[in-house]
Amino acid sequence: MIFDRLLGLLSKDLGIDLGTANTLVCARGEGIILSEPSVVAVKRGTNKVLMNGEAVGERAKQMLGRTPGSIEAVRPMKNGVIADFEITEAMLSYFIRKAHGRSRFIHPRVIVAVPSGITTVEKRAVINSAERAGAREVRLIKEPMAAAIGCGLPVTEPKGSMIVDIGGGTAEVAVISLSDIVQSSSLRIAGDELNDAIVKHMKEVYNLQIGEQTAERVKIEIGSAYALEEELSKEVRGMDTLANLPRTVTVRSEEIREALSGPLEQIVRCIKGTLEGTPPELAADLIESGITLAGGGALLRGLDKMLARETGLPVRRAEDPLTAVARGTGVVLDQIDTLWAVLEDGREVG
Ligand code: ADP
Ligand code: MG
Repeated sequence: MIFDRLLGLLSKDLGIDLGTANTLVCARGEGIILSEPSVVAVKRGTNKVLMNGEAVGERAKQMLGRTPGSIEAVRPMKNGVIADFEITEAMLSYFIRKAHGRSRFIHPRVIVAVPSGITTVEKRAVINSAERAGAREVRLIKEPMAAAIGCGLPVTEPKGSMIVDIGGGTAEVAVISLSDIVQSSSLRIAGDELNDAIVKHMKEVYNLQIGEQTAERVKIEIGSAYALEEELSKEVRGMDTLANLPRTVTVRSEEIREALSGPLEQIVRCIKGTLEGTPPELAADLIESGITLAGGGALLRGLDKMLARETGLPVRRAEDPLTAVARGTGVVLDQIDTLWAVLEDGREVG
């Protein structure tokens, strides 16, 4: 339709990495234009976003664990799925508006990267959210595929590539060849579980109750998956559960590594399981092409070394692992006119 084409000229097509921890938006021809935590602040018990719908992203993340009774900071995608449809929609709507930076009447075409394990109902929910948030047409791309494209892996060739994307709520493992996912697993254990493991450790060993945000900082500052050349330590503040007073404790990277080993083992098991199911020719390719790590979890110190030891394969970390999926959607956007048809069509899903 001519009208559609006119709209297309007026709007920028967007690629969205709707992550459980962070949402990134990429505009066609412009690269990444927005990156914010997937957090929304609402009036408790309602779906009403505070500050006139603007309490989203960085602003809302600062409120996590610090809200008075009347306010709730929510991560609507917390467990790797859309836990709260309406709040997800409000969040997407805010991001699309912010990314678009113009009138609400100009509706972009939107590609959304979703975890490979999501159900048809969840896909439908993402599409509906994006449409109600102002998208003219929506297509979905599987997150590991977007990540692999973003990492520059030779996805279209008849050659096996393995991508491991460790986000907040899910770890995605996939073997790709000839533009398709040959073998994959989606595990609902990732960065959030690493944070939880630290919370649990502090409570069990020091009787210190700490919040999710503090645990995340400990993970980022001194967390590791493999012995460090120089071990680290950090002061951690929280609530002493016996004295009921705030207290500071110094923790060492060795004990944090030990605390993280449980969830990391599950990720290793998931990778090994995916390798087991991979057809032999592709498995043989992986001896050379190895494993590429993406997602924020890829930044954990020594994760590459630990996975190399466990799998015997070469492991490399993507250059900018946090943006790999969004950059992948950007590559797809550049070729959108030829690829649009082959992407998963929203209207046919569900
Ligand atoms: P998602 O795709 O689910 O939104 P991301 O790929 O944005 O997730 O990654 C977010 C996760 O990465 C969070 O759990 C965060 O704690 C973790 N992360 C970010 N930086 C680091 C780091 N330097 N070391 C370890 N984990 C990190
Ligand atoms: Mg992600």
